[in-house]
Amino acid sequence: MDIREFRENAHKTVDWIADYFEKIEELPVKSQVEPRDIYNKLPAEPPKNADSYENILNDVDNIIMPGITHWQNPRFHAYFPANSSFPSVLAEMITAGIGAQCMMWQTSPAAAELEEMMMIWLRDLCGIPDTFTGVIQDTASTATLCALLTAREKASNYSINKNGYSVEKYRIYCSYEAHSSIEKAVKIAGFGKDNLVKIKVDQRFSMISSELEYAIMKDINLGFTPLCVVSALGTTGSTAVDPISDISNICNKYKLWHHIDAALAGTAMILPEYRHWMKGIETADSYVFNPHKWMFTNFDCSAYYVKDVEALIKTFEILPEYLKTKEDGVNNYRDWEIPLGRRFRALKLWFVIRSYGVKNLKQTIRTHLSLTKLFVELLENEECYELLAPVDFNTVCFRCNPKYLNEEQLNDLNASILDVVNNSGEMYISHTKLNEKYTLRMVIGQTHVNKVHVQKSFELIDKTAKSLI
Ligand SMILES: *Cc1c(COP(=O)(O)O)cnc(C)c1O
Repeated sequence: MDIREFRENAHKTVDWIADYFEKIEELPVKSQVEPRDIYNKLPAEPPKNADSYENILNDVDNIIMPGITHWQNPRFHAYFPANSSFPSVLAEMITAGIGAQCMMWQTSPAAAELEEMMMIWLRDLCGIPDTFTGVIQDTASTATLCALLTAREKASNYSINKNGYSVEKYRIYCSYEAHSSIEKAVKIAGFGKDNLVKIKVDQRFSMISSELEYAIMKDINLGFTPLCVVSALGTTGSTAVDPISDISNICNKYKLWHHIDAALAGTAMILPEYRHWMKGIETADSYVFNPHKWMFTNFDCSAYYVKDVEALIKTFEILPEYLKTKEDGVNNYRDWEIPLGRRFRALKLWFVIRSYGVKNLKQTIRTHLSLTKLFVELLENEECYELLAPVDFNTVCFRCNPKYLNEEQLNDLNASILDVVNNSGEMYISHTKLNEKYTLRMVIGQTHVNKVHVQKSFELIDKTAKSLI
């Protein structure tokens, strides 16, 4: 492909993307293919001779698109969103076009300096205290791993980086409702899964802080070294918020690192009326949230904030001869994360924040939160639905409960509702288990979701439920 063909094909591709968005609501939200359908359509060998762009794009339509689940469809209500927006898509095109590898300041000063400023914009927008400094990571999972490793190094005076583990028996704490990425990070960091202590939750699915303190004291008596507590500001199951302030106090009392995982709900902190949830962050050590979930920024873009930047850098710093540069006072972000190489992710945030403007960002998040309240009202207007968790953000945990079924039958009924609704292709919801109850999760956070979408989704759930009971 030469530059003339590139220009031509790029225009076609932009039209392809715009056409996609125009017809996205007609496509089945959840891909309806069977396992291996796509694989079996792919040739086993690469083409010997150059294929035409037209053929390639045709195969995107014919082979790839049937196997795509449409996360940008406004009736995508499953998991948590992975939103994009038009300005973000455009920024990603430019990022790909530039193709810079932004591992350090010198390899693209603009990437480093824009990232520094975007992390300040985002920090101030989302009520994060200015004692924190931000860096963009690929995912919240990686950010949490960084937090654990930094906590470990700071506590061991950087000796584990140097000598490996010796006798330390560190303990990490989170609630039973915490995200699986914490367990993964504990395993990767070499703490051992059995040293992740899961703390009981209350009826709102929030960590019980007295149980946390009890577990810490017990561990100290047994000769363990409590290291870090990961609290959730919005669990994945039901967006429960742990008592951040109490946990911060306990961490300060026992000198533990406090990491806050606000992957989804961190975006709601753009609204001052939601900031009471993050009270206690002032005395925490690190905080992560994902603009790539609810803030209209293409995956991947996770904002990691840490108080002790020096400890972060000391944990990850490497300086082989071939990476030595002479500038002072610049951020070489390769030392702020696990990988060396890094994408220019700040550009899409810049495009999104500028194109929306703060006012519209806030307005859109407010709209999603009020549509969530609307969905709750629609459920409450009918006898047969039951909320299974408080609705504090944009996620509704509920089930159909016609009162004459036992727990097992209720689980089966609600699993069937999920299947029928998702197989219709009209919308997509997912599930979790809360107190052993099969729970439907309806998340309202897609970039273009509006009232009609939510009403239609409710009607489909309601029609399905009533036909099954
Ligand atoms: C989604 C989610 C994560 C994981 O996010 P990634 O960026 O995919 O790693 C972690 N914690 C919570 C609470 C989440 O909801």
